Amino acid sequence: AEELLGQKPSIFKSQNTPSALYTELWQAITNGHTWQGELQNRKKSGEIFWEHVYITPVNDTAGGNFHYLAIKEDITIQKTQAEKILQQAHFDGLTSLPNRFLSLDRLGQLMKDADRNGNQVAVLFIDLDDFKKVNDSLGHEMGDVLLVKAAERLSKSIRQGDTVGRLGGDEFIVILPGLNNPMDARSVVEHLIEDFRRPFHIESRELLLTTSVGIAIYPNDGKQASELLRNADSAMYHSKALGRNTYSYFTDAMNRDVSKRLLLEEQLHGALERNEFSLHYQPQVAVDQRRIVGVEALLRWHNRKLGQIAPTEFIPVAEQTGMIVPIGEFVIRQALTMAAEWRTLASSPFKVAINLSPRQFRDPNLVPYLKRTIEALKLPAETLELEITEGVLMSGLTYVDEAVTEISGLGISIAMDDFGTGYSSLSYLRSYPFNVLKIDRSFVNDITVDITDHELVNAAIAMAHGLGLKVIAEGVETEEQFALLAHQRCDFAQGYLFSKPVEASSITAYLKRQLDGASESPATMSV
Ligand code: C2E
Ligand code: MG
Ligand code: MG
Repeated sequence: AEELLGQKPSIFKSQNTPSALYTELWQAITNGHTWQGELQNRKKSGEIFWEHVYITPVNDTAGGNFHYLAIKEDITIQKTQAEKILQQAHFDGLTSLPNRFLSLDRLGQLMKDADRNGNQVAVLFIDLDDFKKVNDSLGHEMGDVLLVKAAERLSKSIRQGDTVGRLGGDEFIVILPGLNNPMDARSVVEHLIEDFRRPFHIESRELLLTTSVGIAIYPNDGKQASELLRNADSAMYHSKALGRNTYSYFTDAMNRDVSKRLLLEEQLHGALERNEFSLHYQPQVAVDQRRIVGVEALLRWHNRKLGQIAPTEFIPVAEQTGMIVPIGEFVIRQALTMAAEWRTLASSPFKVAINLSPRQFRDPNLVPYLKRTIEALKLPAETLELEITEGVLMSGLTYVDEAVTEISGLGISIAMDDFGTGYSSLSYLRSYPFNVLKIDRSFVNDITVDITDHELVNAAIAMAHGLGLKVIAEGVETEEQFALLAHQRCDFAQGYLFSKPVEASSITAYLKRQLDGASESPATMSV
């Protein structure tokens, strides 16, 4: 108190407060008004602090202002917190890149600049390919480290004046202002994709991470920041569909794809209740006897607005929305009901294979549902085969492993579907109780023309047999393909050569004819 009594408030001055603010303050209080505001002041120690000030003039009896009463509060803590919140509101906590909000704000600014300068802005929507697999198999911590490194690499591969932001998850945005031609974005994108060819080194691991990029150009592809981002996103999806690790420019056709997807999602709701699903069955033939020994159940969807929709189109949507769980139960119920009927008609064991997608394994009800259905139909578990892809196992989740083990323990056979298309890691074949390997049809397709595919198929068959697995070749369309597979001792074959997927009644009719002793080549079964 001794040090302060008799002093002027200016001894707290920090030099940080703009003089305009003091002018405003003095104008107010000398005119008899109260003023309040925030000032930066300095403590005796030299430390700067924020204060909230409330100053009111105290009038004497004659109406002159002789005194001012100031009430002050140290608000430094609130101020730093507000700053932190502002930082958090604008920047991504993990990578420190601008977040979606700030990125779009900057995009808006750059669009205005482009209007003034008569040039264009490119918006790049960047998605890391298969990042979910990294996260699922190596854990979130490793995933986070990889994201930070990817963000660094992105920041380094752009030009000065360009902006990189993180939109969330494994999605990034790059904004390229000042373009004279949409094609000017190309060299930047190509450079960026090229940059990702180098592996990332994390701990002792080497990880490869590719990117898919979509490009939208202002003003051609959208007048608003959000519209540009959406269109760049559609273009990115197109790049994924092209096989990833590439880029695409947005086109109007992509817009139509997006609305189609939305329509599809809309119609998928209630499709089960409207009885729009059915199953077709494709025969699986024992190669040595050329005899049908089982079928694969394949889902079909007919919608009154969209017509017939391919499973490759609607199953990913059903997966993402979780609708695959009730739809999958329908498939299990329906296919097993038919299996029970066909078992009584077939002269030797007859198998029904069902496809299960990754999302279905996250449903705790999957194994109990399978068990209940098998028991209710008094079906031997061996009648059932489940086809799963590597995607199921890559999750690294313990309950997926438990489910697979439990299913196998029930006596249900497990097939690895689409072998050759994913990572095709041998370790999965060794560490999970697979009974069957299904060679993807893309390899079978070319075995007669492509020597590499031929060798790959041979190797896959030999390897599977070495591990005690049976092998099914899918997509067998010609006698030449069949002959090569037979020569390599492939166990089973499935494909248009024998039959397309057909209705249940055709399978029933075939089995009945077979029971009646009619000798019929499966090749003539197709309808
Ligand atoms: P997938 O399990 O690999 O099924 C084989 C696909 O190859 C089927 O396509 C079948 O019609 C087709 N195919 C069979 N033989 C030939 C051939 O000789 N040549 C050619 N070019 N194609 C042949 P589809 O029915 O369109 O099914 C596509 C995919 O959808 C399936 O691939 C499977 O992954 C998925 N899917 C089908 N039904 C279900 C289901 O009930 N549940 C789940 N989760 N996925 C299913
Ligand atoms: Mg399959
Ligand atoms: Mg397959």
